[in-house]
Amino acid sequence: MSVLVYTENWDGEFKKLSFELISFAVKLAEEMQTEVVALSVGKTKDEELKKLSQYGVKRILKVENEEVDQFDPQIYAKVLSEVAAREQASLVVMADNNTGKALAPRLSVRMKAALASGVSSMPDSLSPFVIKTRAFSGNAFAVTELPTEVKIVTIAQNSFDLVEKPSEAVIEDAGVDISGMKPKTVVKEVEKQTDQLLLTDAEIVVSGGRGMRSAENWAPIEELASLMNGATACSRPVSDEGWRPHEEHTGQTGKVISPNVYFAIGISGATQHLAGVSGSKYIIAINNDKEAPIFDAAQYGIVGDAAKILPKLVDALKKAKSA
Ligand SMILES: Cc1cc2nc3c(=O)[nH]c(=O)nc-3n(C[C@H](O)[C@H](O)[C@H](O)COP(=O)(O)OP(=O)(O)OC[C@H]3O[C@@H](n4cnc5c(N)ncnc54)[C@H](O)[C@@H]3O)c2cc1C
Repeated sequence: MSVLVYTENWDGEFKKLSFELISFAVKLAEEMQTEVVALSVGKTKDEELKKLSQYGVKRILKVENEEVDQFDPQIYAKVLSEVAAREQASLVVMADNNTGKALAPRLSVRMKAALASGVSSMPDSLSPFVIKTRAFSGNAFAVTELPTEVKIVTIAQNSFDLVEKPSEAVIEDAGVDISGMKPKTVVKEVEKQTDQLLLTDAEIVVSGGRGMRSAENWAPIEELASLMNGATACSRPVSDEGWRPHEEHTGQTGKVISPNVYFAIGISGATQHLAGVSGSKYIIAINNDKEAPIFDAAQYGIVGDAAKILPKLVDALKKAKSA
């Protein structure tokens, strides 16, 4: 028996999300009295793989065949199902992001395994295996029982703290035979629309709403984001007005993000907006109405005029960076 973690890498590098998955799996494996096996698919240097061992994983399997150079959910699902079967995994853990959403249902069918998507807390019980999943855009929890022998859970980003447990890990080739499997879709070339950090990848997001009053007032939002290596976002009315591009709009009808820090500036905090950002670890709100609903969702808040507060924040950050 084991807990298998699919540790996603981006161009050969792991992000905090992968370490969150390991931290969750290691804690759960202790309760299940079993071991964690991490699986890395795609080319990743061994020194990068070793970073996973900082969080307590002792065995790391890698698959670096050319068939997995590009993410193909069918090939990746085959790799995962083979490794899971060989490792006698009773639980497979992956992220609840675009990759996980493409992969987990395919793996569930292949392995006849029950799937819980969007997990943000430890299981309520191990036998039967009962776990809460996010429902209704994060406004409710669904208490879900997974009755199958093999179970799959996808983890909502920023739900679990990183727990460092440095250990010596063995790195092995997973030895999966996928020769002859061809990707169904081949990406020939990627043309980036912008060199800016992708909103969905950003750990810090600075977002403006209708309280910013016009497109001309966005300079301090952009400056704040750039000082913190973050991305900019906005509420839907802002993109509807054409003040910002539509790909920046977050919420029920826009992007769903879960950065470490989300600055909501001049945003009222409507449920449709929160549906896209409530997974953020910290929300910091700036609003001149102390009754604005965003303050109920935020951990930190400043009541006041954004036009006066933002330049002060930018100055303070510049000073802190040059100190
Ligand atoms: C089906 C449906 C789907 C939707 N999907 C989305 C979605 O995906 N994303 C989304 O964002 N919305 C969505 N909406 C719209 C949503 O209901 C709200 O209308 C919208 O989020 C409000 O945007 P806002 O907070 O920027 O503007 P407002 O509601 O106008 O709020 C502006 C805020 O700025 C504050 N403010 C004003 N001046 C200042 C100042 N000088 N300094 C500081 N604060 C100031 C005000 O107090 C207020 O709280 C959807 C609506 C529907 C019906």
